[in-house]
Amino acid sequence: MRSGFGLYIHIPYCLSRCHYCDFNTYRIDAAAVEQYLEGLAQEITLRASAMAIRDRQICSVFFGGGTPSILHASQLIGILDHCRAAFTLEDGAEVSLEVNPGTVDLSKLRTLWEGGVTRLSVGVQAVQDRLLHRIGRAHTISEAERAFWLMRETGFSNINLDLMFGLPGQSTGDWSETLDWAISVGPEHVSAYGLILEEGTPLHQAHRQGEIGLPDEETEAVMYRMAVDRLRAADFEHYEISNFARPGFRCRHNLVYWQHQEYLGIGAGAYSYLAGRRFFNELLPASYMGAIAERGTAVAGGEQLSAEMLRSERLMLGLRLRAGLDVETFKDVLGVEDLSASDRVVRLLDDGFLRLQGGRVQITERGLLVANELIVQLL
Ligand code: SF4
Repeated sequence: MRSGFGLYIHIPYCLSRCHYCDFNTYRIDAAAVEQYLEGLAQEITLRASAMAIRDRQICSVFFGGGTPSILHASQLIGILDHCRAAFTLEDGAEVSLEVNPGTVDLSKLRTLWEGGVTRLSVGVQAVQDRLLHRIGRAHTISEAERAFWLMRETGFSNINLDLMFGLPGQSTGDWSETLDWAISVGPEHVSAYGLILEEGTPLHQAHRQGEIGLPDEETEAVMYRMAVDRLRAADFEHYEISNFARPGFRCRHNLVYWQHQEYLGIGAGAYSYLAGRRFFNELLPASYMGAIAERGTAVAGGEQLSAEMLRSERLMLGLRLRAGLDVETFKDVLGVEDLSASDRVVRLLDDGFLRLQGGRVQITERGLLVANELIVQLL
């Protein structure tokens, strides 16, 4: 896998807010968008003037949000062109854009394709309109399917589908249908995440008030297992706990994060990791734009990661990858000379949650279902 430096660009606008979402995003407002794009352009220019970044080769640009595809294609390509002029993009750099069905048509997709976007990530989540409606998605499954085929017609050959399990009222049969559909349309990449009830979201509130029921833990585990088995059987590589790719189509941008490589985040609330320091921008778009205009930087805070923090992060991120961590890194992270000296590791190996394979420590099939708990035990 190539090592690299990633560039993330945050577009904090959506058509409406999904009931489970706690991301830094707001209902779109055309006047605010124009100003925000000016802020992005200024931040890109300011960042590129820093020596440490100017000379870096960027392997991936990722437009995330929010819903980047809600903007006009010319606005998105304008930002991308600005990045190309300000930074050095590797030949063949991955340029990803998050898309929501219902926000793209053929003409927009053509402009994105011709402008250099190479990968689209589509938020589908489920194929039952009743479930999409219940979680507040602003699209139907037929819109999602239509968007997918328009992308193919345009020429996009690297498409991810985001799917979710553990939704209110979702049965294993519903999830099975969703997986069947995803496999049948034939994307290059699938992300399958379990719903997380974030405090303060309408879904969290509805659950607390007993208005909605969620699949129990056992059912969620069955759903996860179904995703792993079905996608693998359809020749997807299961390369990260929740991510599956056709050979050659792993998401380079997410690999930057999982392999603990450096990245620069542009836009409201975006995080960066550079020279051992993690820092973040002003969260609200208005504060972000104000900070750039008044202070010449949008950075609102950050910290130098201690050796301890770095070790924990390498462990958490590295073990999420099915390839795991090489034994030497693993020993270094745990601060042991010999794996047999760690009771925790010996127990997890003996119980079949971890395994040693080809000089690497990996989470086993059995461990996948409890990966987060395993990692916590090791820290
Ligand atoms: S589309 Fe994505 S970012 Fe926007 S509200 Fe829904 S989940 Fe949140």
